[in-house]
Amino acid sequence: MKIFNSLSSSKEDFTPLNKDKIKLYVCGMTVYDDCHIGHARTFLTFDLFVRFFSFLGFDVNYIRNITDIEDKIIDKALLEKVKFNEISNRFIISMNEDFKKLNLLSPNNEPKASDHINEILEMIETLESNDYAYSSEGGDVYFDISSYEEYGKLSKRNLDELDAGVRIEIDKFKKNPNDFVLWKKTSVEPNWDSKWGKGRPGWHIECSAMSKKFLGENFDIHGGGLDLKFPHHENEIAQSECCSGKNFANYWMHVAPLNVEGKKMSKSLNNFITIKKVLEEFHPEVMRMFFYLTHYRKPINFTTNSINEAKNILDKFYKSLRDTDFTETQIDLDYKNKFEESLRDDFNTPKAIKILQELVQKINKTKSLEEMLILKFSLKELSQAIGLLNDKAENYFKYSLSNEISEAEIEELVFKRNDARQKKDFQKADDLRNELLEKGIVLEDKADETYWVRKKTKKVGKNNKS
Ligand SMILES: [Zn+2]
Repeated sequence: MKIFNSLSSSKEDFTPLNKDKIKLYVCGMTVYDDCHIGHARTFLTFDLFVRFFSFLGFDVNYIRNITDIEDKIIDKALLEKVKFNEISNRFIISMNEDFKKLNLLSPNNEPKASDHINEILEMIETLESNDYAYSSEGGDVYFDISSYEEYGKLSKRNLDELDAGVRIEIDKFKKNPNDFVLWKKTSVEPNWDSKWGKGRPGWHIECSAMSKKFLGENFDIHGGGLDLKFPHHENEIAQSECCSGKNFANYWMHVAPLNVEGKKMSKSLNNFITIKKVLEEFHPEVMRMFFYLTHYRKPINFTTNSINEAKNILDKFYKSLRDTDFTETQIDLDYKNKFEESLRDDFNTPKAIKILQELVQKINKTKSLEEMLILKFSLKELSQAIGLLNDKAENYFKYSLSNEISEAEIEELVFKRNDARQKKDFQKADDLRNELLEKGIVLEDKADETYWVRKKTKKVGKNNKS
């Protein structure tokens, strides 16, 4: 298995510390708003990693934290005049709803920062007593980046470059402009008692403390969105390695960003698209397929066309499985090997999907029933290994939460139309078919049944929220 390690900026052979076990830590959500599709990309990618490692026989200990202490959460709480955990709990519920719909595997543990204040304080004390941290006149405790020679090894920045950067605001209490806060003195809730007075932890130390608690000082893979590489992950390395004197994570994996119609998602462009918004119109597996069509280290562009292209591919997968009673049979080893090989190469999902598409084409061509069953079984097994084809074809094609016409209404019109056909009233049958088409419902007549699918041509809308 080869994976790209951001630490060495190269593809490396992956060797876990413990032969068949993998320890994986992923930086999770900061819970102050609904998750958007950029988050979906990151967490679906790590979900793929966990699924595929498990498929290969590894036992994965997957930790994904929740950042529930952070300025944005606190600002929102102040604005709404509620306690900080009312905000965090609200968005944890929202996140869980989204992640469940996306069929993300649950992490083995999902620690929250606010539950680990003691572990955090312990780490800060160790850093201070070994002169890696100092408490400033202002009452905050900072990490002293000049005390750690290897600072910048992940993001490949050196201190001179960092110091030469334009500083909008230099904290007068810091020794170096890039020193970062470990403990922030504050009388605003939430705050906790400490030897430095009432305060709350900085964001970076949360992940160092929680990964240590659940995975130990040295573990296999640490990951997150590419935007976290600097400063968050760089700072995690500094804190953890200075605390333990050991290597922190052996491999760092980062997921490239997502753009919407060629532009970065931002508040000012009002182009944030939430997971909920996309799932109103597209089956969750369509979103998964959409991400798989681009390698996780390449930026991805979300457009109405690109998501519909993913839907068309997945439609063909589901269509090819329809019309047969499914039986368990042997897997086509040739396809299995090719599929596995592509994912063993730093999770080359575009290639893996191509192989599955070949399988679909072969299913549609073969005249041998025996071969067809093997191919169908293989398609299903391999797709399911990466979280696809887990729904019934029937449910998949009927999926839609936002269309104005209900399933019962569709069924009724389909019934009326078939009735008209039987009575040879073809004019009426055609009228009914057109009426359905206008509502976005496409009919397909097979031997003795009529299938219907919702055709998605609507543009994926912007959120009204700012
Ligand atoms: Zn983190």
